[in-house]
Amino acid sequence: MPELKMPANLPDPIVNENAKIVLQRRYQRKDLDGVVYETVKELFWRVASAIAKEEAKYEKSTTKPAKLARDFYDLMTSYRFLPNSPTLMNAGTDLGQLAACFVLPVEDDIEGIFDAVKHAAMIHKSGGGTGFAFSRLRAKDSVVGSTGGVASGPLSFLKIFNCATEQIKQGGTRRGANMGILRIDHPDIMEFIKAKERDGDLNNFNLSVGLTEAFMQAVHDKADFELIAPNTGKAVGTLNAREVFNILVQKAWESGDPGIVFLDRINRDNPTPAMGEIESTNPCGEQPLLPYEACNLGSINLGLCFAKGKNGKDSEIDWDELKRIIHLSVRFLDNVIDASVYPLPQISDTVRKNRKIGLGVMGWADLLYQLNIPYNSQTAVDMAERVMKFVQAEARSASKQLAAERGQFTTYPESTFGAANLGPYRNATTTTIAPTGTLSIIAGCSSGVEPLFALSFVRNVMDNDKLVETNPYFEAALKDADAFSGKLMEEIAKVGSIKKMDHLPEHLRSVFVTSMDVEPIWHLKMQAAFQKYTDNAVSKTVNLPGSATKEDIWDIYWKAYEYGCKGVTVYRDGSKTSQVLCTGDAE
Ligand code: UDP
Repeated sequence: MPELKMPANLPDPIVNENAKIVLQRRYQRKDLDGVVYETVKELFWRVASAIAKEEAKYEKSTTKPAKLARDFYDLMTSYRFLPNSPTLMNAGTDLGQLAACFVLPVEDDIEGIFDAVKHAAMIHKSGGGTGFAFSRLRAKDSVVGSTGGVASGPLSFLKIFNCATEQIKQGGTRRGANMGILRIDHPDIMEFIKAKERDGDLNNFNLSVGLTEAFMQAVHDKADFELIAPNTGKAVGTLNAREVFNILVQKAWESGDPGIVFLDRINRDNPTPAMGEIESTNPCGEQPLLPYEACNLGSINLGLCFAKGKNGKDSEIDWDELKRIIHLSVRFLDNVIDASVYPLPQISDTVRKNRKIGLGVMGWADLLYQLNIPYNSQTAVDMAERVMKFVQAEARSASKQLAAERGQFTTYPESTFGAANLGPYRNATTTTIAPTGTLSIIAGCSSGVEPLFALSFVRNVMDNDKLVETNPYFEAALKDADAFSGKLMEEIAKVGSIKKMDHLPEHLRSVFVTSMDVEPIWHLKMQAAFQKYTDNAVSKTVNLPGSATKEDIWDIYWKAYEYGCKGVTVYRDGSKTSQVLCTGDAE
C-alpha cells in the first residue's frame, strides 16, 4: 500500500513537558547513533497513517484512508484517545509489533519451557508484556520419564523466565513485564504463594494465584481441597482452604504479592471456549487471553469528555462526543490488528481468528473532579457504571458496523456471541481497562480509573529529571475558590493530599481526594462498577494504609469475589520497595 503523504496544513501537536521527555526517550525514532530524527508531529503522523492505510483493503469501507489518517491524527494529538505504547512506538516501522498484551503457553517439557522463554524475549524486545500459567508443569520432585530423575517444579523455571527478562530489558524498547499464574490446586502452590516474600525476588514478575469456584466454596465451608498433579490428573494431597487463604492474605499484606484471579469467572466470560481455556492474563491483569493470543489496547481520555452545563450548572458528559470517539477508536484498534506484525505465526493465527481489542478509559479521576463528584461516593460508582455501560454498548455497536463492512471474526459461529445469536461482531472482545501508565503521562491526565496519586507532587521522570506537577483541575478549583498560592502548593506537594488541611473549603476537600484518602472499599466498588460493563478485565489497585490489618485484606479479597471482579491487587502503603514496572516511568 502506498504511503500517505503528510498534509501540508497538519497542525503541530501541543506536547506537555513530561510527555516531551517520555516521547523523546522511547517513542520518537532514532538513528543508529541514538540521535532522535523524528518530531512528535511526525511520530503521530507515522502512527495515524500506518493504521489508516489498512482501510484501503476493505472495499465496503465507509471512509477513505487519507481522511481517516487525518481523523486519527486529530484524535491522538487532541489526547482524546491513545493506543497502547507498542503501537505508538512501532506503527509504520520495520518492527511493526503493535500489541501490549500476550499470553504464552508453558508446556510440561524442557523444549516447551525454553520455547516460551525465547518467545517472551522476542515479545519484550518489541514492547509487549507476557503472561504465563505455570499450572501445567509437573510438581517439584515428580519423576521425569526420559531420565528417571526428578522434576524441579514451576518455581525453578519461573526464576529462569525472570532472569531472561532481566538480561534483555536494556536492549528492548522498554522493560518487559510478566505475569505468572499458578492454579490453587497445583501441588507446589504453597511455594508459589511465598515466592516473593523477600524483596527483590522475581522482580520482573507479578504473581497471581488462580482461584477456582470449588476453592472459594471450600474457604467458605472451612473445608479441605485437593491438590492435583497436572501431569497425571490424580489427587496427591489435601490442604485446608481457609488456612491457605490466610497465608495468601498474609503474603499479600507483607508485600502486595501474590494477587488473585478468579479463573472460573474469567472462563465463564471466555467468548471462544471452543478454542480452549484461558489460563492467564497479561502482566497487569486487565487482559485474560488464550495461549498464543495477543491483544492491543487503547484508552479514551474521559477528562476531555466533560461538558459544562448552561450557566455553569448541571455539568455532564458530552455523550455525543464520547460516542464519536468510541466509534473512531474501535476502527483504529481493529485496523491495528491488520497492521501489526506478530512475533510468531501461532500468535498471528490466534489473533486473526478472534480479533480481540481492548478499548478502555483513562482520566476518570479528572472527570470526577470536573463533575464535582467525590471518587469515594455512591454517585461516582453509579456514574462509573453509566459511563462504562455506554462505552461497552457503543464499542460493540462499532464492532457490528465493522463486521458489516469487513466480515465477522472467524470464530464467531462457535463463539458465545454466535450461540446467543448476538452478532455478527468484528471482535471477540472490545473493552478492557488498562493501567495507562505511560499513556496518561503523554495525555497529561489521571491514569486509568484510579484516583489521583497526589494533587501536587515532584515527579522523577527517568534518570535525574525532576518535575513539579499539579493537577490542572485542582489548580483551577483552588483559583475559583480564591485559595491558590505558591506557598500552599509547596505544602501540598509535601503530602499530596488536602484531606487534613482544615483551612481549605470543605467542598474542595471532599471532591479532590487521592488514592490514600479513598477507603479500600470504595476502590473495590469502583473496580466492580467498571468490571460490570467490561468484556475483559479492569486494571486497578486497592490501596490500603500502612496500618491496614490482615483482616482488612481478607475482607477485600473476599468482597472482590462477591462483587464479581475478575481478580484483585492490593497495595499496603510502605509494604514493598520495588514493583514490576507497569507504570509510566518507561525506565
Ligand atoms: N506493559 C509492559 N511493560 C511495561 C508497561 C506495560 O509489558 O513497562 C504491558 C503490560 O501487558 C500491561 C500493558 O502493557 O498490562 C498495559 O500497560 P499500560 O496501560 O500501563 O501501558 P501504556 O500503553 O500506558 O504504556
